[in-house]
Amino acid sequence: MAQIKVLIVGAGLGGICLAQTLRKAHIDVEIFERDASPWDRPQGYRLHLEADALNALREVLPSSLHQLFEATAMRTEPFTTILKTDLSVAKRIPTDDGQDAQFWPEFISDEKIHCNVDRGTLREIALIGLESCCHFNKQLTRYESKADGVVATFADGTSANGHVLIGADGIHSAVRPQRAPQLNTMDAGVQAIYGRVPYELAEKLLPPEALEDIFGIATDERKLFLGTGAVRFPTKPDVAAKEILRSATLEPRDNYVVCIVGGRHELFPQSHAELRSATPKYLQAVAVKMLEGWPEKARDLVGGGDSESFFIVSMSTSVPGVLDSPTNVTLLGDAVHAMTPTLGRGANLAMRDAALLGRQLKTVARGEKPLAEALGSYEQELLRYGFDVVRESVAMGQQRMGQNPLP
Ligand SMILES: Cc1cc2nc3c(=O)[nH]c(=O)nc-3n(C[C@H](O)[C@H](O)[C@H](O)COP(=O)(O)OP(=O)(O)OC[C@H]3O[C@@H](n4cnc5c(N)ncnc54)[C@H](O)[C@@H]3O)c2cc1C
Repeated sequence: MAQIKVLIVGAGLGGICLAQTLRKAHIDVEIFERDASPWDRPQGYRLHLEADALNALREVLPSSLHQLFEATAMRTEPFTTILKTDLSVAKRIPTDDGQDAQFWPEFISDEKIHCNVDRGTLREIALIGLESCCHFNKQLTRYESKADGVVATFADGTSANGHVLIGADGIHSAVRPQRAPQLNTMDAGVQAIYGRVPYELAEKLLPPEALEDIFGIATDERKLFLGTGAVRFPTKPDVAAKEILRSATLEPRDNYVVCIVGGRHELFPQSHAELRSATPKYLQAVAVKMLEGWPEKARDLVGGGDSESFFIVSMSTSVPGVLDSPTNVTLLGDAVHAMTPTLGRGANLAMRDAALLGRQLKTVARGEKPLAEALGSYEQELLRYGFDVVRESVAMGQQRMGQNPLP
């Protein structure tokens, strides 16, 4: 058994899933997160999970946390509802579950594999048990890679030493410019305003299909879109699940439907910089105004949303590329293969990366492989599937919302 210490930069879903799987294998791990707490920044509400995330969560989480995840996830029908602008159903498109049976040795096969979950709830669950090794208010500024390990330096002047460092620090990664300066991201040309609509109101305005399917989307001739996605917490969690929820201090939460009004930057009345500093209420009013000319129902849905919940996101994507030879530093999730949310797969891939990298680091800890070989195997596979999905998401983004093409 070789003693290795793993430093993870970023406590997003990718970083914390990696930490969970390493802890299960008794590997020494520490996470360093820039934010002051898990709830500092709005990152979206509903998260669509499919085969990669579901297989990964089963592999990386301790079984009690996995049960908790299952008790809070909504299973959806495997379709995207294409809506007309009056919110009636135009058609339903079957949606692939992204299953890769070769990658997942005991893969989950289930017709209802697609889930909509509340991102905050999932992150809260996945952070349970990591309290002592997850440090907040720790922004990585740079690292130094040496033959026998890595030194990470933080904005507060402190540093940490480990054998390997993982950049799981998202699309604006501080690790990537050092580890892979050749990998770039680009503006997708698109932005979107997100908010939460109370479930009871959404039920009155949306057809039942849009509440059962993964996602609903209506688009006009300018490719301005209104997206919807329901999050329903199981109404009658079984007794065991209720007990776990209570013991984890996770109260059952209110159901909601996320609403998204988006399109190319030019369709918005102000620049992204101006809108970023606007209040949630103002953003909601902008979103409603952008739907002028659409039937009233669409505006009522957005206008009836929780006024404090609205925020704006400018979308970017990674540009596929290569990594230099493996060192003792690598990347995971959006830090390497970020994409626009059109396919709803970015978090799924970050969790798949975590499972794959976890498997490789365990071979190092067991003394079966040198570190560089293990990271090399991980990176080769990561680049293949990660950038395939990036390309797929760009194609879908171009079709649905006028996203910029890759260079
Ligand atoms: C609105 C929206 C909706 C989405 N919907 C879906 C969906 O339905 N399904 C899906 O699969 N994906 C979805 N995605 C994509 C998904 O959110 C990302 O792919 C996923 O969060 C990536 O996880 P990650 O752990 O790699 O990075 P992140 O979640 O971005 O986490 C990175 C973490 O690193 C921290 N960090 C950054 N810099 C530093 C630093 N220098 N030092 C220390 N810490 C640092 C950040 O604070 C953050 O906590 C959506 C994205 C958005 C924006």
